[in-house]
Amino acid sequence: MTERSGGCVCGAVRFKTTAELSRITICHCTWCQRRTGTAFGTEAVFNSDEVEITGETVERYRHLSDESGRWLDLEFCAKCGTNLGFTLEAVPGVRTLPAGAFDDPAWIRADRYKIRHVFLRSKRDWSELSPLVEQYEAHFRK
Ligand SMILES: [Zn+2]
Ligand SMILES: [Zn+2]
Repeated sequence: MTERSGGCVCGAVRFKTTAELSRITICHCTWCQRRTGTAFGTEAVFNSDEVEITGETVERYRHLSDESGRWLDLEFCAKCGTNLGFTLEAVPGVRTLPAGAFDDPAWIRADRYKIRHVFLRSKRDWSELSPLVEQYEAHFRK
């Protein structure tokens, strides 16, 4: 059995997955940019019954799509606000976990899993490592 664990930054919410993920979706849509505060959302997609969430209560925010009218429940830690993925009315039985919230995200590798980048039409030009960006191994302020 493939077990992997993760959780929020304050430790109040923990999760465990008991099977392999089905894919990774990296979404560059402007809505994911806003909900994550970054250039994209990185969602590890699992069957809901292969994810166990423990600890304190997870908060949910229901977003209704103005296009489809369907809901999407964003989940996050009530204490520290860490993104804990979402469930979608459109895809029952499936949930996402943010790839960066695993204790050891190093197992998520592009040569091992199907990784799809979607909504590239709104991709930010500062979100890729092109020769035009300055690159530092650690923070630039020493
Ligand atoms: Zn927390
Ligand atoms: Zn998105």
